[in-house]
Amino acid sequence: MASKKEKIYLSTIPEPPEDSRTVVEWIGKGTVGLFSKDDVPDLCCGKCRAVIIRGMPRKKLKGAVLKCKNCGAFNDTRTDIN
Ligand SMILES: [Zn+2]
Repeated sequence: MASKKEKIYLSTIPEPPEDSRTVVEWIGKGTVGLFSKDDVPDLCCGKCRAVIIRGMPRKKLKGAVLKCKNCGAFNDTRTDIN
């Protein structure tokens, strides 16, 4: 059902120094953070291409770094590789 949604592949960065950036890691079940049913593009890991967050508009993350639960890569929400 969600297949027509766009995907955004974020660019991966080295682990940010502590306190320099907000790092968000989904700690719920599974590897995908589900926030809402809003029709917004999935935010995907630029390394392993897994969906990291679904239903969260990118601008709401305010430049946070997303840690991929699948491969452990750090993904910068400010830049993407699309
Ligand atoms: Zn990954």
